[in-house]
Amino acid sequence: MSRVVVVGNGMVGQRFVETLRARDVDGRWQITVLAEENRPAYDRVGLSAFFSGATPEELSLVPEGFYDHEGDVCLKLGAQVTEVDRDRKVVRTVDGEYPYDALVLATGSYSFVPPVPGHDLPGTFVYRTIDDLVALRDYAAGRGVGAVVGGGLLGLEAANALRLLGLQTHIVEFAPRLMPQQLDESGAAMLKVQVEALGLTVHTATKTERLEPGADGAVKSMVFGDGQELGVDLVVFAAGVRPRDELARKAGLTVGERGGIAVDETCRTTDADVYAIGECALMIDRVYGLVQPGYAMAEVVAQQLLDQPATFKGADLSTKLKLLGIDVAVFGDAQGELDVVYADPAYGVYAKLALTDDAQTLLGGILVGDASAYATLRASIGGPIPGKLADFLGSGQVEGTLPGTAQVCSCNAVTKNDVFEAISDGCKDVPGIKACTKAGTTCGSCVPLLKSLLAEAGVQQDKAICEHFAFSRQELFDLIRVRGITTFSQLVAEHGQGRGCDLCKPTVASILASLGNGHVLEGEQATLQDTNDHFLANLQRNGTYSVVPRIPGGEITPDKLIVIGEVARDYGLYTKITGGQRIDLLGARVDQLPAIWRRLVDAGFESGHAYGKALRTVKSCVGTTWCRYGVQDSVGLAIALEERYRGLRAPHKIKCAVSGCARECAEARSKDFGVIATENGWNLFLGGNGGFRPRHADLFATDLDTATLVRYIDRFLMFYIRTADRLQRTAAWLESLDGGLDYLREVIVDDSLGLCADLDAAMDRHVGSYVDEWRATLEDPDKLRRFVSFVNAPDAPDPSIEFVTERGQRVPAQHRQPVVVAGTRLPVREVDP
Ligand SMILES: Cc1cc2nc3c(=O)[nH]c(=O)nc-3n(C[C@H](O)[C@H](O)[C@H](O)COP(=O)(O)OP(=O)(O)OC[C@H]3O[C@@H](n4cnc5c(N)ncnc54)[C@H](O)[C@@H]3O)c2cc1C
Ligand code: SF4
Repeated sequence: MSRVVVVGNGMVGQRFVETLRARDVDGRWQITVLAEENRPAYDRVGLSAFFSGATPEELSLVPEGFYDHEGDVCLKLGAQVTEVDRDRKVVRTVDGEYPYDALVLATGSYSFVPPVPGHDLPGTFVYRTIDDLVALRDYAAGRGVGAVVGGGLLGLEAANALRLLGLQTHIVEFAPRLMPQQLDESGAAMLKVQVEALGLTVHTATKTERLEPGADGAVKSMVFGDGQELGVDLVVFAAGVRPRDELARKAGLTVGERGGIAVDETCRTTDADVYAIGECALMIDRVYGLVQPGYAMAEVVAQQLLDQPATFKGADLSTKLKLLGIDVAVFGDAQGELDVVYADPAYGVYAKLALTDDAQTLLGGILVGDASAYATLRASIGGPIPGKLADFLGSGQVEGTLPGTAQVCSCNAVTKNDVFEAISDGCKDVPGIKACTKAGTTCGSCVPLLKSLLAEAGVQQDKAICEHFAFSRQELFDLIRVRGITTFSQLVAEHGQGRGCDLCKPTVASILASLGNGHVLEGEQATLQDTNDHFLANLQRNGTYSVVPRIPGGEITPDKLIVIGEVARDYGLYTKITGGQRIDLLGARVDQLPAIWRRLVDAGFESGHAYGKALRTVKSCVGTTWCRYGVQDSVGLAIALEERYRGLRAPHKIKCAVSGCARECAEARSKDFGVIATENGWNLFLGGNGGFRPRHADLFATDLDTATLVRYIDRFLMFYIRTADRLQRTAAWLESLDGGLDYLREVIVDDSLGLCADLDAAMDRHVGSYVDEWRATLEDPDKLRRFVSFVNAPDAPDPSIEFVTERGQRVPAQHRQPVVVAGTRLPVREVDP
């Protein structure tokens, strides 16, 4: 048996070991992996998930039991290789020597820290390993302001981490725009607008001159090239990486002028028995900072060792990321002879496709704000665009098919043909294709495309909510209810896999809340919520929040009106009467929220849930109370309904209205449920909505007495909550119900499924257990703690939030700033005839 020693157990080192083990069916190689870090390989690409609660174990890339076969493959942790003795063919660690027949260097990179004075002060960090993130998280606790040096991919990821840690966050970038290596001027401008709308401050064209310490010796401020100073509590350097080639240098192997272990296209260094792969390798004049080229190199070396000729064929440098929740994708060569550009500042979308001059071949492109067309477009590089350009640039909704040779997963070099082969071998879903081909297992951006290829191949797909659960929302709801599950971790442990994602976490949070599993910020539930629910307030464009107290039926006493006015005045909030009979108080900083709620709660207000997927308002006209046409008390009923359903969590927001006569002043037919008074009682309408695709509600029942009306609404809401898909409004849900309104009538009125007693009981439980979320938060120091990270400087105005005055009130400053999203000239270049 020959011996291969692998130095480094990072993403690429681990991929190499797995590939060699899978291919080496005759057991020719014994593998020893020497790893400097104290934990086995983990998902560095997904590192930031650590701040959303992922544990190091969950980030691990090493299959369970993988290194348990002492003999043919072994891993030594905490074993830094200090020397390679090429003459004796051994490597040394502090613990001993390891002989090799072949040596694979997979030592990765280190974070580059610009040598500015103060770069090594306490309170400065890099963003590369789990240990870096642990140190950053621990230091950030209780601190207020953080800055990231570097506005590239990594810098934006680090900025998001600071934001999740509750810090006011600044991004300092030397270049004149964000992501200078990937984006053009217009794409970067759009990204900047969106990043700033989240409340982060972006300083482009800004040089960090030095870091200054405070009295405790830790970093206290940053001084920029123009002399300006920014007070900070911590600084993260994310200004690029450098290959770790120190071992190779010491061993006399050739390294590049600007670093990197020189290898040829077979990944051999200048010593034929030593290979270098991944980020430490200088592959024909280029160091790749992405994982896919590293995986390709791992494959090449595994094949070489088994005497199968293989060479590195170049790399696809496309990337798609969700940076701070904003889609950004760059693929192929975004500098074509013909550029097609689409920009929609209202929706924050920018798209550019680069084509050959005959517009027949796609060369590459940039997508900011909406990257839904990314997977299809990337797979189409080098060929014609499979559909109309306008479709790709606008909505991302496309029709058309890709050629079989199109690369579907660039991380793992999987083509459409490979996927179809897997499907014909029996893979019937995305997890199956992942297991067979490895497509979708690294950055995950091709998963939507895998789904559409399954559909194209005629495979009936399940309605799995995401890769972590093989269930639809409705099935998850039933599982949670029937099994009495109360936490996400219990659900994922018993019925799912992995650590969850942006799709399943809020969905499960909403189901748990629908089932009355305690306060939304209780224990683990808190980490599942999206931003609005996280702070029980609506995040607005400049990073401030709006506070919307409940005003059932729109009825409010003068005293309460005065309290709202006083709160708004004292906190300088913009006030607006909304379309749903509420008063919206806009512009509150997150640290001000508890104090604002305190005043409102003391005056008898509670949360209007304008932030949640929950009941919003039951709008009403003035009915018999005032109106000469009114035939029923629409205000009284609206108040009763709103108090009954307040806090009810649902797949989407729920809006309702009650009109006191057929004149319909409350516009009840445009709501999820609408009630219109008749001489004899109430008419009930179901499944309406306003918005982008308005729909009038359908008449469900006529002349109902109040008790029957309320029971029907109870059942309608509970049945909807249990059976609708995530983010499906009642209108779409009703349209998707087999049998439509008649079927719904059978279920709710005739009890055809025998469900009504259960639905009634569920609603009674909800009504009986309602607790105001604001009040409960104020009463619980643990929950309040999430709002205190900003309180350490309660009187200092947040420098990232600027207001201007408009019509006598404060509005976000950037609201007024012009935004260049398509450059100052049309980006069409002339070509030689
Ligand atoms: C936050 C973050 C986000 C990223 N996002 C993306 C992304 O979206 N897409 C993408 O393609 N790439 C991304 N990357 C880059 C990607 O993680 C790297 O390309 C990939 O990890 C490189 O793998 P590697 O094995 O070459 O190096 P690494 O994963 O860095 O592993 C190298 C290992 O070698 C060890 N080592 C070094 N020297 C020695 C020694 N002398 N002895 C023993 N062990 C040693 C190191 O401790 C390390 O564990 C991201 C990186 C980070 C940090
Ligand atoms: S809907 Fe009828 S009762 Fe209500 S305000 Fe209009 S006219 Fe009056």
